[in-house]
Amino acid sequence: MLPYKNHTEKLKLIKDGKLSLTDNVEFFLDQIEKNKHLNAYNFVFNKEVKEQAGSVEGKIKSGKHGKLAGMVIAVKDVLSIKDKLTTCSSKILKDFTSLYTATAVKKLIDEDAIIIGKTNCDEFAMGSSNENSAFGNVLNPVDNAKVPGGSSGGSAAAVAAELCDVSLGTDTGGSIRQPAAFCGVYGLKPTYGRVSRYGLTAFASSFDSIGPFSKNVEDAALVLEVMSGNDENDSTSSSSPIPELSGNLSLGDKKLKIGIAKEYFGEGLSQEIKTAIENIILKLKSVGFEVEEIQLPHTEYTIATYYILTTAEASSNLARYDGARYGYRSENVSSLIEMYKSSRSEGFGNEVKRRIMLGTYVLSAGYYDAYYRKAQKVRRFIKNDFDNAFNKVDIILTPTSPTTAFKIGEKSSDPLEMYLSDIYTTSANLAGIPGINVPIAKSSEGLPIGLQLLAKQFDELNLLKMAFYIQEEIL
Ligand code: GLN
Repeated sequence: MLPYKNHTEKLKLIKDGKLSLTDNVEFFLDQIEKNKHLNAYNFVFNKEVKEQAGSVEGKIKSGKHGKLAGMVIAVKDVLSIKDKLTTCSSKILKDFTSLYTATAVKKLIDEDAIIIGKTNCDEFAMGSSNENSAFGNVLNPVDNAKVPGGSSGGSAAAVAAELCDVSLGTDTGGSIRQPAAFCGVYGLKPTYGRVSRYGLTAFASSFDSIGPFSKNVEDAALVLEVMSGNDENDSTSSSSPIPELSGNLSLGDKKLKIGIAKEYFGEGLSQEIKTAIENIILKLKSVGFEVEEIQLPHTEYTIATYYILTTAEASSNLARYDGARYGYRSENVSSLIEMYKSSRSEGFGNEVKRRIMLGTYVLSAGYYDAYYRKAQKVRRFIKNDFDNAFNKVDIILTPTSPTTAFKIGEKSSDPLEMYLSDIYTTSANLAGIPGINVPIAKSSEGLPIGLQLLAKQFDELNLLKMAFYIQEEIL
């Protein structure tokens, strides 16, 4: 067990000489070693972190340190760190060394965070169970027979099993929130554009966002505050002002208005999850929160729209892995075309191939209007639903996932079943709004149950305040 609740407490312990950062880093390295069977990390930076612990501790003691001084952070292996491998858990990039550091990661390092390693994930962040990794699956720390969720399964497991303080994941359709729900930790997906995507390997560029996993709302707020902001290297990053988040989490007397949409409580939702969420709603009502029914009428189209648009974007983004410029190249080929074909056939896993084929199909001349253009229009309807709802309420409350963590292998032969596990999360990426998983309860099997909160674009402040209120007053 860690001797601190959040980063503020950790810093104070170090300042007061009650915690040695070197011991703390050794503790994490030891935990990683003892939990090797979880397969949460692709790479651990043993040597560097030991060196950094001493120098950061010195900075803390002298009072000249950054906001994240001594926070031990793991980074999903789709984000670049200069001179380190970035594999995206794919054979096609297994030897690829990054030329520069992703802006989001650089901002953490600039505030004296310690990056301990890179976490396992589904190949190119495509999946919901971490079973699509060339490095093998990750086990759920709560129950090793279950998946940790995906695609940021390693990042979620690493926080849940105390293999780091905080980790970074990416969320294109739920890959932070769903594994956070399955592993029982907080997982925050910011507004699209809040955090620069420079140095993030693109999956679906108009959906991808980077965010933290943590054991508490305070650390998530602090990390988001540091990572946010406009970046000249990402023209889609926003210059919308970043409010102070971390020191500003108390709601005070303010009672936010909460919206509930029946579309998120229908068929397919486990009874246990439904009951756990209803309990939270009852408690919120009893302390004076106004809870109102809202309509999100295009919800039934979210999965189809998401899989048309993201596969289209992925097929284009992944065209660059051709054996000529990046990573794996097939040997024994006699022509250029054969080299492209064999490198891609041998380098990509099945799910990635499936998505490239689907995406190529929906973008092909005869089908572009019927699928891609239509899905673009539906995306707008889904966004409008949220705009209308947020005219009435501040926060929308839903389940994060329809089930708790499922068994390894249970859904891997049925892609559609697997895709349905994102039924409550993809809408936030279609609309570009922020969302967070709050771990609220355990099922009768002892598996974590997650609640999702959603807010309007760039309203991470109210989102985090609401999550903090639930953490402090309701749970
Ligand atoms: N599970 C979803 C998918 O497979 C979401 C992935 C993600 O958010 N990166 O596409």
